[in-house]
Amino acid sequence: MLDLKEVIGITSTIPVEVIFAAGKIPRDLNNLFITNANSEGLVNEAERSGLPHNICVWVKGIYSLIRNTNIRTVIGVVQGDCTHMAAMLENLMPQGVQFIPFAFPHGKERRNLRTEVQKLMDYFRVQWDDVLQAKAHLDDIRKLALEIDRRTWQENTISSKDNLFALLNCSDFLGDAECFKKQLEKILAERREKTPENMLRLGLLGVPDVFSDLKEFLDEKGASVVFHEVARQFAMPYQHSDLLEQFLAYTYPYNLSGRIQDILEQTRIRKLDGYIHYVQSFCHHQLEDMVFREQLPLPVLTLEGDRVGPLDSRTKTRLEAFVEMLNVRKE
Ligand code: SF4
Repeated sequence: MLDLKEVIGITSTIPVEVIFAAGKIPRDLNNLFITNANSEGLVNEAERSGLPHNICVWVKGIYSLIRNTNIRTVIGVVQGDCTHMAAMLENLMPQGVQFIPFAFPHGKERRNLRTEVQKLMDYFRVQWDDVLQAKAHLDDIRKLALEIDRRTWQENTISSKDNLFALLNCSDFLGDAECFKKQLEKILAERREKTPENMLRLGLLGVPDVFSDLKEFLDEKGASVVFHEVARQFAMPYQHSDLLEQFLAYTYPYNLSGRIQDILEQTRIRKLDGYIHYVQSFCHHQLEDMVFREQLPLPVLTLEGDRVGPLDSRTKTRLEAFVEMLNVRKE
């Protein structure tokens, strides 16, 4: 069982090596919220506490999650992610939550990123040697996640659900890197049937979705997500040996052109047929939809989610129509 006193919450992927080097347990609050059996209840509780309706459910869910646990230290990304999240954390400070800001430099300057990492290291009183040792260990596990990803798109032998599990949880390694490593090894060791060659190949762009059955529904309709754009970034796919280079190559917190370049490259390599761009209600990332539509070469279905739970019938109809259109286009 985790010793909650030692848990450090994170609101987005950060150089988690620093937390491991300090002997603490990082937990990605997004993943804890979305996998919580009472995620909808957490959102309702935040609204009852006064958080406005027009704030995204991730912010509200995480707000209640922190209040309901012993997590008292949270690293919040204040640049390169979500301003709402930072404001929410400030709200929690009078309730005893220690909020440590982390900023990805907008201009991707190495010097500025180094300063940010150093501030974290100073807070946790760790040295570069310890951090780099943690990186070497985590990189071995990231390689397993990336191998799972390869088998999803290249061999069609690992489902998009397992793929997402492996990539997404590289943000915090489930707080227990060894245990997570074993789970990835198990996925890799299991023998699987190949999915049929004629399945449509989709890219899922944007922030992680709140639907509980999106991948299963698409699989049923003959379409498989073989590219999780943002989740793949959490596994640091460029595999730099230098920690700062690694987090400068991580596309999500910087400008959109880096993300588009990555999507274009993966579109070609993975032979995609189309994209689903997931957008969260009340999220500033919605503005990116226009750019994706203009600059990406394949059809884009924009899917907006609000509350946590299964797909509603209208969304299912839109997905079916999109899959049908892609099939006709492919023929
Ligand atoms: S979905 Fe958008 S608004 Fe919500 S936490 Fe993520 S970045 Fe912030």
